[in-house]
Amino acid sequence: MSPMFRYERMQKGRTRQHMQLGAEVFGASSPRIDAEVIFMLTQFYQAIGIENFKVQINSLGCKACRPGYREKLLAHFRHRISELCEDCKKRLEKNPLRILDCKNEQCQKVAVSAPQMTNHLCAECRAHFEGVKTSLNQLNVTFEVNPNIVRGLDYYVRTTFEIVSSDLGAQSALGGGGRYDGLVAALGGPDVSGIGFGSGIERLIIALEKKVPLGSATPQNYVDLFISALGPKAQAFSYGLINKLRLQGVRAEVDYDDHPLKTQMKKADRMNSRFVLIIGEDEMNKGEAILRNMNTKEQKSIPFGDILNEMEKNT
Ligand SMILES: [Zn+2]
Ligand SMILES: [Zn+2]
Repeated sequence: MSPMFRYERMQKGRTRQHMQLGAEVFGASSPRIDAEVIFMLTQFYQAIGIENFKVQINSLGCKACRPGYREKLLAHFRHRISELCEDCKKRLEKNPLRILDCKNEQCQKVAVSAPQMTNHLCAECRAHFEGVKTSLNQLNVTFEVNPNIVRGLDYYVRTTFEIVSSDLGAQSALGGGGRYDGLVAALGGPDVSGIGFGSGIERLIIALEKKVPLGSATPQNYVDLFISALGPKAQAFSYGLINKLRLQGVRAEVDYDDHPLKTQMKKADRMNSRFVLIIGEDEMNKGEAILRNMNTKEQKSIPFGDILNEMEKNT
């Protein structure tokens, strides 16, 4: 994850600095990798709870087939230049591809009938694009081809994609990416292929807020175990124990401030803890701890090694 800075003029709701997470794969040009990268991003969105999204893909061709397509596109837009917005009029000769993703309604109308890159791909690019689609199907990723997804820079080739969400309103892309096989060489490195994606953190927050407004109760407002450690020896031991338990999926908490037992019990209550484990000097010497079931209020002394088992038995 890294902070990014936008060079271009800001659209409404976009800031110059933003946080972005991403992934890059170098040295692999198989379309299977493209599908895997897209799959990975969709899995990530699902894992954090974003559901309303769509995968859109396109191919931008390559050095061999894009120049010919560009000419066809130029001819189409030159013919209708009077209908384009001021920005697009200016970028027509330099970068006609960008007109395809202009958000201006009038430009979008002109773009609808524009020639599409996917109909002008060379044989290799066509095979690659078909490979991406087959692999996405194999991974059960639902997608649609959107011929208007483009990248402004020449080093982008073949696969380009966006994941859009209706939860974001007009600014609908959650994240996106594409293949940039020419980039490393253009920067003076070896001629190695690359593909990657970026996803703005601020947009993820907007999409998630639609689902769970910040500050509202979440379904996980409890902990499994609160460890009440009394004295420095027990605290040092508990610190190791708690992190071991967390690795095993236990939602565990401990008091880091050496409060008296009563205060710690109140804290455990507030955290809605299902169990409290009390470890003091005596317990340390015996290698046992007192496990209290906060539901039934029952408690008993158990060996350190049996804590998980005991909790599972009483769940
Ligand atoms: Zn090509
Ligand atoms: Zn425009």
